[in-house]
Amino acid sequence: MSERHGFETLAIHAGQEPDPVTGAVVPPIVQASTYKQDGVGGLRGGYEYSRSANPTRTALEECLAALEDGSRALAFASGLAAEDTVLRTLLRPGDHVIVPNDAYGGTYRLFAKVWAPWGVEYDPVDLRDLDAVRAAVRPGRTKLVWVETPSNPLLSVVDIAAVVQIATDHGAQVLVDNTFASPYLQQPLSLGADVVIHSTTKYLGGHSDVVGGALVVRDAELGERLAFHQNAAGAVPGPFDSWLVLRGAKTLGVRMDRHCANAERVVELLTRHPAVSEVLYPGLPGHRGHDIASRQMRAYGGMVSFRLVDGEAKAVEVCGRTEVFTLGESLGGVESLIEHPGRMTHASAAGSPLEVPSDLVRLSVGIETADDLLADLEKALA
Ligand SMILES: *Cc1c(COP(=O)(O)O)cnc(C)c1O
Repeated sequence: MSERHGFETLAIHAGQEPDPVTGAVVPPIVQASTYKQDGVGGLRGGYEYSRSANPTRTALEECLAALEDGSRALAFASGLAAEDTVLRTLLRPGDHVIVPNDAYGGTYRLFAKVWAPWGVEYDPVDLRDLDAVRAAVRPGRTKLVWVETPSNPLLSVVDIAAVVQIATDHGAQVLVDNTFASPYLQQPLSLGADVVIHSTTKYLGGHSDVVGGALVVRDAELGERLAFHQNAAGAVPGPFDSWLVLRGAKTLGVRMDRHCANAERVVELLTRHPAVSEVLYPGLPGHRGHDIASRQMRAYGGMVSFRLVDGEAKAVEVCGRTEVFTLGESLGGVESLIEHPGRMTHASAAGSPLEVPSDLVRLSVGIETADDLLADLEKALA
């Protein structure tokens, strides 16, 4: 789309012209691995083999690029496949990366268990503390600062523009995992970040029915390098998975509005509940990152974490007692989920600097009727 349209218009139309052959309004699922050539090298529309490119995936990639205000997006079979590919592209043995000290557990595992043995060094740092970020930079060797904001599961907020400033001063690039906010609430490229990564499994897909990932960049040359690795390593999503994420993305704006509104109601309940010792939500004026979140996000999101006065046993009990909130990992779908990060999503961080408090419960607040969500939590906390 040539003109600059609004977010919702882009979500519904970017990369999604009606099919030129049939007029189908929705991009077809092109379930093909290979494409007939008109003579050797005579490609029709640039497609030769679906690892390199597939029309349904192209539609998704163009849509995601538009939503993040980037020049290029690349879709992957999972968020972690996207992470692995960007690390292969940007790093060499001996390079150093600054990672958040409360990164998503799978991200931390990728650095600690996969990339460290290949000679990439990393330091977990509290990225809210800009002096700590400066102190962690190893001149000439720090190539990347990995930001996750709001973070999973502690909902801490990092000042993206401030970290970009520090990284730029030292010749490092900045990547932002924008999974929790989604491009509707936050656009890191416009704040100076070099790469955005998504687990499209979460808010972009939005219906807990597909696993996927994406990278989005502004710089065309970096986009080319990433595309080379996407094809060379081949962790691509299939046409149907691409189509599911694309369909989810169309309603991202309206879903996020409701996720945020429901989360605010849930936060209200939790903050005055005697069984709860602390509520972690960037929308709370007392949250350490509230001012930054108010600047760099459109609203505060649908993820809420809280701690229990009575500790781990109570946290585990509450997770087992809800009925509308389903006990399960993952997040960002239309249905509300509850989980115990210490024993579930973040179990792999146990004993590491990223270990999470054992009395912590994480909610992915869905878009069900808010009163039903509140009643369910009241009952589970009682
Ligand atoms: C889920 C998640 C990932 C990993 O994505 P997958 O699609 O599960 O591979 C990365 N970052 C964050 C913040 C996540 O929540």
